[in-house]
Amino acid sequence: MRESNDDAVPLEFYDTRTRTQRVFEPLEAGHARVYTCGPTVYAPQHIGNLRSQLFADLLVRTLLSRGYQVTHVVNITDVGHLTDDADAGEDKMERAAAHAGRTAAEIAAEYTAQWVRDRELVGCRPPDVLCRATEHIQDQIDLIQRLEERGFTYRIDDGLYFATARFPRYAEFAGLDLNAQTSAARMADVPGKQHPADFALWKFAAPGVRRQQEWDSPWGRGFPGWHVECSAMSIRYLGPTFDIHTGGVDHVRVHHTNEIAQSECAYEMHPWVQTWMHNEFLNLAGQKMAKSEGRVALLEDLIADGHVPLVYRYFFLQAHYRQQQAFTPEAMDAARTGYDRLVRVASEVRGASGKTRRSVMAPLRRRFQQALADDLNAPRALAVAWEVARSGELEPVERWTLLREFDTVLQLDLEHALPKSEQAAGESDPRIDALVAERERARAERDFANADRIRDELAAEGVTIEDTPEGARWRRE
Ligand code: AMP
Ligand code: ZN
Repeated sequence: MRESNDDAVPLEFYDTRTRTQRVFEPLEAGHARVYTCGPTVYAPQHIGNLRSQLFADLLVRTLLSRGYQVTHVVNITDVGHLTDDADAGEDKMERAAAHAGRTAAEIAAEYTAQWVRDRELVGCRPPDVLCRATEHIQDQIDLIQRLEERGFTYRIDDGLYFATARFPRYAEFAGLDLNAQTSAARMADVPGKQHPADFALWKFAAPGVRRQQEWDSPWGRGFPGWHVECSAMSIRYLGPTFDIHTGGVDHVRVHHTNEIAQSECAYEMHPWVQTWMHNEFLNLAGQKMAKSEGRVALLEDLIADGHVPLVYRYFFLQAHYRQQQAFTPEAMDAARTGYDRLVRVASEVRGASGKTRRSVMAPLRRRFQQALADDLNAPRALAVAWEVARSGELEPVERWTLLREFDTVLQLDLEHALPKSEQAAGESDPRIDALVAERERARAERDFANADRIRDELAAEGVTIEDTPEGARWRRE
């Protein structure tokens, strides 16, 4: 896909701020700077959360395929995200730690590792910068100080707050009707708040409560509000204005609105971010999959059901990122069938060589590129890949060349993945298969002692397990 053709289709993305699809032009020619809101690591990240990462990955890989240098920054929220958007709830990290009788740092480390692993299993490129809120407290304090110097803050018993009334554009981004908000109750939750939409920049530790995570600041001991971290860390790594900011649609009204308020007021600029991109929800039983509701499926659940992780990526590609997508076991089975078939065709033409004809390949290449250039239309891009896979007109080498190119964005491991039948036609032993599956489950549950025990037992029989992006495979030495 890395073509230097002059007639490349311009990339267009839908921008939440202007509510239009616009041609992408980075601030610095040839370099795209992207920030993605990452996980709050108080519980396992579910496959809905993973959708936000797959979407960002599709974006990054599309940019890379078009020859851009990409700097992709993703944060880890390990402090300050409250159970309630109105700044009155508990800190999710502290609460999870208290419930589990563990430290917040242990919980954060465990769920960060799970997130990193799941992301990798579904083919997401590691971020260029992975930054933790707790490791950037000073950056957050610096940003708050800039706001204080410019007169955007006020202090109440509970903490230092951002005065939204002093930022006239506050409601613009999300099209909020601030007067009609059902927020009288929210005001009452935090006595002294001047406006319901005002939000905490720095929260004081409650009197008599010793938090696990608290720091000194010019305003007193406490911890940063959740929104500050994303402004502070994105600006630290990408500069005071950058190209693209992504996240789930649930972030538009509060989190991203507040990020914009802080960043534009601290750095006196507009627009802070050139393009805002938001993925729609993955739904379960007709509603947003949400861990706070206890309504989730994890990648490890899909693996336990016998799916290879890339089936979830294939499933993701079947819907446009701005459409809601319904998760059902049947839909996953259908994705598995589709994925297996594509892998089978790829394996049939894999490695084919010979002469290729540009004239027959160029239109397909162009249509694939057009699909992605049209606000990352993955289902259309996948349809072009299928057209190539099925084509009776293309030579095997041509099909292989195109599929391999497309896979730099799709990331379905078409280069190596084995079709189901071949896996079965290889070595098969139900007892070993079951042990390997048990080890996979143990690994997914982070029961590494058990996983290692099974691996050692099999090794003693001369069976080697190989972990691949599609799951574990085994062979006899
Ligand atoms: P959190 O860990 O709650 O901070 O969420 C991490 C990311 O996942 C955010 O960008 C959310 O917007 C996104 N997200 C949460 N639930 C879903 C869902 N059901 N479908 C798609 N994205 C989601
Ligand atoms: Zn964020």
